[in-house]
Amino acid sequence: MLPKIALIGRPNVGKSTLFNRLIRSNRAITHDRPGVTRDRMEGYVKVGDRKFIIIDTGGITLDEHAAVAEGPDELRGFEAEILRQTEEAIADSVALCLVVDGREGLTPFDESLAAYVRKSGKPVLLAVNKVDGEEMADLYMAEFHTLGFPVIPLSGAHGFNVRAFSGELFDLLPPED
Ligand code: GDP
Ligand code: MG
Repeated sequence: MLPKIALIGRPNVGKSTLFNRLIRSNRAITHDRPGVTRDRMEGYVKVGDRKFIIIDTGGITLDEHAAVAEGPDELRGFEAEILRQTEEAIADSVALCLVVDGREGLTPFDESLAAYVRKSGKPVLLAVNKVDGEEMADLYMAEFHTLGFPVIPLSGAHGFNVRAFSGELFDLLPPED
């Protein structure tokens, strides 16, 4: 079985954009489960002859996005279905990629999610997304580094640093035998 890495993050940070960028032409695998309204998306990431499966989490609509609570109870306000999907994705993955928004800086919700993924004990890479070019890369980096994870600035929408990013994801995987 191929190892899996899950993209974790609050809504709108660009997980799905990054997912689509990573899998490119490779078709997404959709898991249709009875009783589950939202499908979890999985896709292959291939570089040369190396391969892993990337999991996108939290497929929600714009209305639901607006309903997600901000403030100290962010995680509880994290819509139940997304939380369930996230927990399942974390359990199924060998490593995790926490995605944040490099234009907004670190939010309390990000910090809650950071604590949440850290609890898993799995390797975590922090992807600072929406850094659409080199000139933006330093903006909030100091505060993102306080989370203690390795950090990479990138742009899922524009492709900045995405190649380096996929390399760092491969580096999170356990050695092949
Ligand atoms: P998700 O909710 O985390 O899956 O986020 P989406 O992938 O749906 O993206 C949310 C919004 O952020 C969309 O409007 C995207 O176009 C935008 N977005 C995603 N990636 C980038 C990026 O690298 N740069 C910029 N400027 N916008 C982005
Ligand atoms: Mg999404």
